[in-house]
Amino acid sequence: LEAKEEFTHKTLAMDVMRPRRSDPALTILTQDCMTVEDVEAIINETTYSGYPVVVSRESQRLVGFVQRRDLIISIDNSLKKQDGIVSTSIIYFTDHCPPLPPTSAPALKLRRILDLSPFTVTDQTPMEIVVDIFRKLGLRQCLVTHNGRLLGIITKKDVLKHIAQMANQDPESILFN
Ligand code: ADP
Repeated sequence: LEAKEEFTHKTLAMDVMRPRRSDPALTILTQDCMTVEDVEAIINETTYSGYPVVVSRESQRLVGFVQRRDLIISIDNSLKKQDGIVSTSIIYFTDHCPPLPPTSAPALKLRRILDLSPFTVTDQTPMEIVVDIFRKLGLRQCLVTHNGRLLGIITKKDVLKHIAQMANQDPESILFN
């Protein structure tokens, strides 16, 4: 059979990543404008293992990735320590936080729990390459970007589901659909 390539449907990172088109948006944190209360609400409303941190909602520029358990532990500890952190304290994932007026609640600095170089691929990356990267680097998750803007996430479980789906499909249908 000639020109096989023309029929081959290559699954791309954008086909496997979450959220799907119909799903609610990715749950993200911003680096310098969310309060302890805001972040606690997100932790309580979702069960994700982690959250991408972005510069701002408008820019969707990725700053890093924070694990859910590290967030919970850090917030709990800082509230227990009674060093002035309250639910209205702003959480900073940035290097520095701006001087705050003396009347405002002290800031909670959480840069130390942020993974500053989470693995990322673009939405057009073929899944066979993504699978290879997960295997070789032992990734737990990988973020997906388009023109530098954060679009989605692929977890190890998403990759395993994708592999299972491919294995169950008739090879002919993979080639021709
Ligand atoms: P797992 O895939 O091991 O169950 P999670 O609980 O973190 O891990 O993710 C569950 C599903 O939600 C996965 O399909 C994943 O792609 C997606 N997901 C993970 N993190 C987020 C997030 N911050 N916002 C939206 N969806 C997410």
